[in-house]
Amino acid sequence: MRVKAQMAMVMNLDKCIGCHTCSVTCKQTWTNRPGLEYVYFNNVETKPGLGYPRRYEDQDQWKGGWTLDRKGRLQLRSGGRLRRLLSIFYNPDLPTIDDYGDPWTYDYQTVLNAPLGTPNPSAHSISALTGRDMEMKWGSNWDDDLAGGPGHAAADPDLAGLNDQVKLAFEQVFMFYLPRICEHCLNPSCVASCPSGAMYKREEDGIVLVDQDRCRGWRFCVSGCPYKKVYFNHRTGKAEKCTLCFPRIEAGQPTICSETCVGRLRYLGLFLYDADKVLAAAATPDPRDLYHAQLSVFLDPEDPGVKSEAARQGIPADWLDAARRSPVYALAVRHRVALPLHPEYRTLPMVWYIPPLSPVADVVHAAGYDDADPDQVFAAIEALRVPCEYLANLFTAGDPGPVRRVLRTLAAVRTLMRAGQLGLGVPDGLAESVGASEVDLADLYRLLAIATTPQPPRSSATATGGSTSTCPPGLSHDRRPVQAGLGAAAIPHSRAVRRPRRARGRGGTAAAPMRGPARPVPRLAAGNAAI
Ligand code: SF4
Ligand code: SF4
Repeated sequence: MRVKAQMAMVMNLDKCIGCHTCSVTCKQTWTNRPGLEYVYFNNVETKPGLGYPRRYEDQDQWKGGWTLDRKGRLQLRSGGRLRRLLSIFYNPDLPTIDDYGDPWTYDYQTVLNAPLGTPNPSAHSISALTGRDMEMKWGSNWDDDLAGGPGHAAADPDLAGLNDQVKLAFEQVFMFYLPRICEHCLNPSCVASCPSGAMYKREEDGIVLVDQDRCRGWRFCVSGCPYKKVYFNHRTGKAEKCTLCFPRIEAGQPTICSETCVGRLRYLGLFLYDADKVLAAAATPDPRDLYHAQLSVFLDPEDPGVKSEAARQGIPADWLDAARRSPVYALAVRHRVALPLHPEYRTLPMVWYIPPLSPVADVVHAAGYDDADPDQVFAAIEALRVPCEYLANLFTAGDPGPVRRVLRTLAAVRTLMRAGQLGLGVPDGLAESVGASEVDLADLYRLLAIATTPQPPRSSATATGGSTSTCPPGLSHDRRPVQAGLGAAAIPHSRAVRRPRRARGRGGTAAAPMRGPARPVPRLAAGNAAI
């Protein structure tokens, strides 16, 4: 058993209001520079919809992620080294600027300098890349709120095979928002695709980064990532990507998207996992089994054997404590209400999602039923306007079973809390019907309710990581009574700052070098001018 720690995120899609605050604050922090005009490390998509870049989920087209060869071994979908070598000066699998959306600004001077009396002066759009006049045709959130309606949404790759079940007429369609960042995968195909060895996974917390000094701009990471979360800076000629705000994480702060999220739907925390099991899990033959295979990689932080082995392998006590209190572990493993995005890409992604339940209550109300009756709520889950199969195409490689179980669990939490708050009797066997206890459901409610993220006091010890405290006050999963779930939780101070370790070379992923902070931390951030 090789115990590793991984920083991860869970997003509760029921709470996302599609305000794009996360995209804006991330953009202002990380990519507000020339060369990255079209780049959003964090973007928010409307589903059903095409995404950013459009149709990025269609791996038949983009050839991102992993597949299995005839012998059942993992191989990059983009092909072996020879194919990549032959296409090194022309990579045919790259999205164009038209797929991302040509970024534009406006000729504001036309309005500001218009002479008095000019009838209706208007600013026209100009390309932020070329400075020339342009006609807007696509953007990172062009199909926001189903703009374009059936014309765009119907081309969503996740709708394949479901079009007859999903109503795309404007007044009938269902939509929800899907915020996306880099998944900081356990088996990152971007790292394995890089011919220069510039991409790597940090040993201490699993954050995937680009070494700007080594990057040669071949862009195989861009095509190799199935989530299209590596971007090319056309000014510097280097690749850049979401850093999971590691300078903030190292200071015990949540990522900027978590801190500014209006819906308070982002949970941050640690997983412990067995690096020796990663390859076998990613090579699971049936894609529908990949969700369970990834679950089997995670280690129980309460297990005395895991704790002693982790300590023996050098994971500090405060990290183990943070893993024990981690809300992402509680949501994904203990309560099993969070699911990975597109596990069929075999990268073992580490940003998981709680699927949206909201339409269920609407469906029950619209039908004139009582949404306090679990039987009626459970029946409504089967009658969702977006079928469970659509959510399954997103989160479980097409297996609707886990999605149904999650939605039923969430419905049971609502029923239980409603019964408690209105003084109604709890329906017999409610918790047992979803394989949980009432204590489990109450704990889940505490995690999922309105989040609060009290700010830690700013002290020099916190800023330098020199404190012996384990995580910012108020951000702990097991602070009781906590009125609410946690926007960001259980973030330990970085070992990179307090206890530097040497690189160990290749780590536990298929072809992903795992590096420790052998170099000073600031150098790792060379590609990010905001630091
Ligand atoms: S393969 Fe995974 S870790 Fe690499 S950029 Fe894509 S989402 Fe991030
Ligand atoms: S800030 Fe939060 S609520 Fe707003 S779009 Fe982003 S994830 Fe959704």
